[in-house]
Amino acid sequence: MVAECGESSGGQGYDCAVADCLFCKIVAGDIPAERVAESSRTLAFRDINPQAPTHVLVIPKDHYPDLASLASSDADLLAEVAVQAQQVADAERISAGGYRVVFNTGAEAGQTVLHVHAHLLGGRRMAWPPG
Ligand code: AMP
Ligand code: ZN
Repeated sequence: MVAECGESSGGQGYDCAVADCLFCKIVAGDIPAERVAESSRTLAFRDINPQAPTHVLVIPKDHYPDLASLASSDADLLAEVAVQAQQVADAERISAGGYRVVFNTGAEAGQTVLHVHAHLLGGRRMAWPPG
């Protein structure tokens, strides 16, 4: 991957847009998405292939490949992602019934987009264990 703004600016490691990253392109507006919430550092948009009546992805606007890199670099930003997931759950009216927040992390978990994202899923009964 080619970093547009230097991979270690501010000593944080991954705090910049990555040229060939799908979700960085959504943040930039280069690829369309149905945005449902936005803060200065986070963005929530609907998953293009929803697995539940509500399926929203919540991401940091800066590029971190996965949960491990975000957690170790900026725990406050990770908290902002979690708070926005909760706010979207409230706005989608799925909080009372219950919902699920998932970070697929790594190949065995099925992570396919290497820009960390929380899946917010709700509006139907969830099974456990997940597949
Ligand atoms: P994961 O497999 O955990 O990495 O999740 C990636 C998610 O991104 C999948 O649920 C995809 O359906 C979703 N996705 C892929 N491309 C887009 C897109 N252009 N807009 C919205 N969601 C997308
Ligand atoms: Zn990215």
